Amino acid sequence: MSATAGRPPSVDALARSLRASGLPEPLLVEIARDAIATGRTGDVDLLVTQRKRRLLTSVINGTGVLLHTNLGRAPIGVSTGASYSNLEFDLASGKRGSRHGAVGDLIATATGAQAALVVNNCAGAVLLVLAALAGGGGRVAISRGELVEIGGGFRIPDVMAQSGATMVEVGTTNRTRLADFERAQADGALAVALHVHRSNYRIEGFTESVSITQLASLDTTVVADIGSGLLDAACPWLTTAPPSWLNGEPAARQSLAAGADLVLFSGDKLLGGPQSGIIAGDASLVAACAAHPLARALRPGGLVLSALQTVLLAYLHRNGEALPFWRMATTPVTALTQRAQSVAEQVLARAPSLRLTVVETEAVPGGGTLPGVTIPSAGLSVRGDHTEALRARERPIIARVAGPHTVIDFRTIDPLDDAEVVEALVG
Ligand SMILES: *Cc1c(COP(=O)(O)O)cnc(C)c1O
Repeated sequence: MSATAGRPPSVDALARSLRASGLPEPLLVEIARDAIATGRTGDVDLLVTQRKRRLLTSVINGTGVLLHTNLGRAPIGVSTGASYSNLEFDLASGKRGSRHGAVGDLIATATGAQAALVVNNCAGAVLLVLAALAGGGGRVAISRGELVEIGGGFRIPDVMAQSGATMVEVGTTNRTRLADFERAQADGALAVALHVHRSNYRIEGFTESVSITQLASLDTTVVADIGSGLLDAACPWLTTAPPSWLNGEPAARQSLAAGADLVLFSGDKLLGGPQSGIIAGDASLVAACAAHPLARALRPGGLVLSALQTVLLAYLHRNGEALPFWRMATTPVTALTQRAQSVAEQVLARAPSLRLTVVETEAVPGGGTLPGVTIPSAGLSVRGDHTEALRARERPIIARVAGPHTVIDFRTIDPLDDAEVVEALVG
């Protein structure tokens, strides 16, 4: 609506006039008040649109970044009606159960761990493990080459300090040997030897690092923060061999087999699930984590556990097709090219003047994993910067600008959304 000149409308009247927008009354009152106070009653429809844009919504990811931190990392679906669940109820005994039982058991089976515990994210997992195993000044040895910062202010030395553990840095930035850990141990008992995967950077050249197998020869608890949550390097959930871009990525099953007492990883990176952090390994260590007061503060909700259970069941069914991240990551590039071709034909049939071409692109795993790794992909390149118009759609499409073109990468788009891409480009 647009206000007539003269006397400004009342807040209530203006808010009432915006009801068709579907926003709840208190938000409309805020908008109306703001519009009147700033003399933008003529622009009030725009304010409504802007307010709607701040709500969480489903988007189409045309960036080619599979785990896009701004877009919620892994694509997940949660569809449950309003219902109770047996979250903390043991259906066999009729007694109180643990929320960690159902999903913890599935993680254990999928990784070969004795037990597992789920918390809010991997940062929380690191914090909890250090607090439970080394809080109160326990000595935690870590290579100077692994004092990482993950995005969002997660720095190992800071987390270590928060946990109450005493950090014992060993080795150098580029070279650390087992003997460095042994020297640290000779100076005083170690509560933990911590191995942190360099998820988002590489050290190349004159380097040496200590493997989990080597750390396992120390007489202490070995904790491996593998970050990304690759469950098993053999990828038994894929019908093809593990993709070459996974080379060198640590996996939970193999890290445990190599001698890690606990592995820690994210639920929403290569695992392809909801935001969560997983602690898996030795049953008594997992129990010690579960018993720590921080476990209560870091516990995930039932929605997360239920989404994670869906993901883990798909892994155990060896059904990578049911895991959106893996389905997208392993789609043959020929299939993407065909889809891009088909979308281009449909668009050009209706908007012949559009300068649109099918292009080879490079998708990336993203999410702070596998730095430098690209996955061959295909997409559409459209002359001009259309990103704002694409974002402004009811269901936004997120694309990227490359020079004078807008590029939409099809690797990160569900084929069911191709028709929406056609509509968006026809305009
Ligand atoms: C990503 C990452 C984390 C943090 O995981 P979140 O689930 O995002 O909290 C911790 N450690 C490593 C090695 C990582 O790669």
